[in-house]
Amino acid sequence: MKFNILTLFPNMFPSMLGESLAGKALERGDWSFNTVNIRNFATDNHKSVDDTPYGGGAGMVMRPDIIERALLSVPDQGRKIYLSPRGKVLNQALAKELSQEENLTLLCGRYEGVDQRILDAHNFEEISIGDYVLSGGEPAAMILMDACIRLLPNVMGNADTADNESFGENINGLLEYPHYTRPAEWTDTKSVTHSVPEVLKNGDHAKIDEWREEQSIKITKKIRPDLL
Ligand code: SAM
Repeated sequence: MKFNILTLFPNMFPSMLGESLAGKALERGDWSFNTVNIRNFATDNHKSVDDTPYGGGAGMVMRPDIIERALLSVPDQGRKIYLSPRGKVLNQALAKELSQEENLTLLCGRYEGVDQRILDAHNFEEISIGDYVLSGGEPAAMILMDACIRLLPNVMGNADTADNESFGENINGLLEYPHYTRPAEWTDTKSVTHSVPEVLKNGDHAKIDEWREEQSIKITKKIRPDLL
């Protein structure tokens, strides 16, 4: 899978994606990225990429002609995505769908965002990472990339892992059940002892599955009833 990233800050990549699971997958060539510095396509002496908004108002808007030149420098664009608080909110189903693409082109906005005409002229999909406003699209692009990369074949150790996680198919799209590991008895600094639930220690997998399903429903009801 290849990500083309149109940005004013190419040095921000790969950042966290160069470490751990995603970093190893990058080294193996399971995914790759190509940053395109939008500023390189500016034509004036100041290398400006933005201008004041028509109709007035605060902030600056990124120019469509400059973004278009940057976009056209990318040979295999695939699906074109503008990271935007206005977009469809990224979820696990969308991450899974995007992870099956060979190429994605991600446009990272800055300032007040980009001129609407570049989105219309090149059919950009708008994707948001949540209902809050960031100062730029780069952190949003990294989050989208991370959500896709971990779903690529061979990136996670066990192929079933993603389906057993929160929002996964094996747990009916609900939140995940709680996890426990050693020690079986743990005494915290306030001298309170916490035990691992008995059911997880007896090796009865049918009972364990039943308990996990109950916990998953209970947690989802409490925290995200909209998922039920
Ligand atoms: N004026 C825009 C608005 O009100 O919708 C916000 C612009 S924001 C300051 C600058 C850039 O950050 C946007 O162009 C977008 O690329 C990115 N961005 C901000 N919040 C985001 C979010 N929740 N999801 C994805 N991208 C976001």
